[in-house]
Amino acid sequence: MHPFSFTKAATTREALDAGRRGGRYIAGGTTLVDLMRETVERPEALVDISDLPLREVRVTERGGLRIGALVSMSQTAAHPKVRSLFPVVSEALELSASAQLRNMATIGGNIMQRTRCTYFRDVTADCNKREPGSGCAALHGFNRMHAILGTSDSCVATHASDVAVAFAALDASVHLLGPDGERRIPFADFLLRPGNTPNREQTIRQGELITAVEIPALPRPLKSGYLKVRDRQSYEFALTSAAVALHVRGGVIREAKVAAGGVGTVPWKLPAVERALVGERPSDALWTAAAEQAAQGARPLSGNRFKVELLKRTVERQLRIVGGTK
Ligand code: SF4
Repeated sequence: MHPFSFTKAATTREALDAGRRGGRYIAGGTTLVDLMRETVERPEALVDISDLPLREVRVTERGGLRIGALVSMSQTAAHPKVRSLFPVVSEALELSASAQLRNMATIGGNIMQRTRCTYFRDVTADCNKREPGSGCAALHGFNRMHAILGTSDSCVATHASDVAVAFAALDASVHLLGPDGERRIPFADFLLRPGNTPNREQTIRQGELITAVEIPALPRPLKSGYLKVRDRQSYEFALTSAAVALHVRGGVIREAKVAAGGVGTVPWKLPAVERALVGERPSDALWTAAAEQAAQGARPLSGNRFKVELLKRTVERQLRIVGGTK
């Protein structure tokens, strides 16, 4: 591990000052410390933000939910308001990582986590994300776990977070605080597709701090849930996943929120699936027809062609679980 300085910020102002000078924020440390041990990340200064007052979960005035950036994954998953208003968020968190990691890792850190591409973590391999311009070993290497949507010739790595898929489906936004004040970014714009610069992963600026993730109010009743398909039933990343939320009134789907994980370079919102659902009556035939739209634009690699069909089946199954059949 390379040498680094470590300071603990007592106030938000202290944290922002240290961040502006180039310090890297750390709280749970469940991603960053691993990467530092592997010398993939070599920050010169760490700023511990775990004492900042960002641990509140509250219902917003309009009936949405605001989750502080330092609330742990396990606290978020267990929170009564999260469970009752947006169970898709609780389910996505409970299917992530291990119980020990969920106790340490925070919501802000979760959405900032870096890819689990094995070549990214192997400092002897070519990787444009770690070393811009060096190439991408996954393109013609072992790419079974990699993305089929949003890829570029520079990078085909998936975003590993499950809860980010739920946030993308629900059209959440990210609250940031930085030297220039506060700003709020739609979740869909926060995480970046790789393009020619896979080393740039978020729209966050130097010194900015994530303060919260906010889920907007959605019409009620709302049924939601998360399905994760993986090689083993715990402590494994998704091959495919689906986050679904449906508002059904008078026997007709009035609102549909759907996103997929394990398949995109970012959590993959599925607007074509949503359009196919809205205005229709729940039925087995509808779930099948809507899920057919899930893999539009997919560009599978040599090792992950199976994900195209698996994605459609995952979305179809989760639509059936959440929407039921008539
Ligand atoms: Fe690196 Fe992305 Fe290629 Fe993986 S897929 S080796 S992260 S450039």
